[in-house]
Amino acid sequence: MRVKYLGTAAAEGWPGLFCACQSCKEARKRGGKNIRTRSSALINDGLMVDFPPDTYYHIINFGLDLSQLKHLVITHSHQDHFYTDDLELRRSVFAHLEEGNIMNIYGNRAVVSIMNEILQTIPALNEYLSIHYVPPFETFEAGDIKVTPLLALHARSEDCYIYIFEDGDGKRMLYGNDTGIFPEETWEYIKGLYFNLVSLDCTVGPGKDGNNHMGLPDNIEVKKRLFELGCADEATKFVITHFSHNGGLLHDELVELAKPYGFEVAYDGFEVVV
Ligand SMILES: [Zn+2]
Ligand SMILES: [Zn+2]
Ligand SMILES: [Zn+2]
Repeated sequence: MRVKYLGTAAAEGWPGLFCACQSCKEARKRGGKNIRTRSSALINDGLMVDFPPDTYYHIINFGLDLSQLKHLVITHSHQDHFYTDDLELRRSVFAHLEEGNIMNIYGNRAVVSIMNEILQTIPALNEYLSIHYVPPFETFEAGDIKVTPLLALHARSEDCYIYIFEDGDGKRMLYGNDTGIFPEETWEYIKGLYFNLVSLDCTVGPGKDGNNHMGLPDNIEVKKRLFELGCADEATKFVITHFSHNGGLLHDELVELAKPYGFEVAYDGFEVVV
């Protein structure tokens, strides 16, 4: 399984759109891996997780051709993960696509109801987008990837999801943002399931949260429990992502902090193969 992190920031990006804090000033100055756009990832070049407002920048920056993307999996309806204004452009005359070139969008009830409203307002979009409600804890197939939504601990107004992705080679990834420490039903479901790759929310950087997001102390706690439940071992790769400028630590500092605990720090363009 090959995972490419296209964006690795929280909602406002880093530097934040309108932010004058020290962390944003420092990121602007240092550039490189300190510049983080809103979060999404590409799995095996065929499935994308989340559709942030920076997707256009991602296609330019990483040379992507989304005309052939068939599977888009959405974690929750927050704007930094589900930017519908740009999804509306997947139709004539904004996009010239062959007949039958449909992109499937999978998500929770909130995502589906927002999309259905858009499809009603713009009927032409129905030729190019197909919306699927995917209930938690039920596995579905998106091309050759098996996908299982799990409940996250995040916005309480909808069932936010984290996901299990399993590819044709039997490699399994736990994709875990935006979430605090997982709800018990999620722990119960994943008990005994082995993951080759675990990707965790680290919005607050060195701090602790656990209720809506995580910081490194929460990541350490989650990792420990995953080991105890047989979900991970020394061979499992652990990656942290979805960083906010409010966490304060820039990329190199995060790397230094996370290394002793066995976490790799994602950055925009970071690729991991398991
Ligand atoms: Zn987010
Ligand atoms: Zn800032
Ligand atoms: Zn969110």
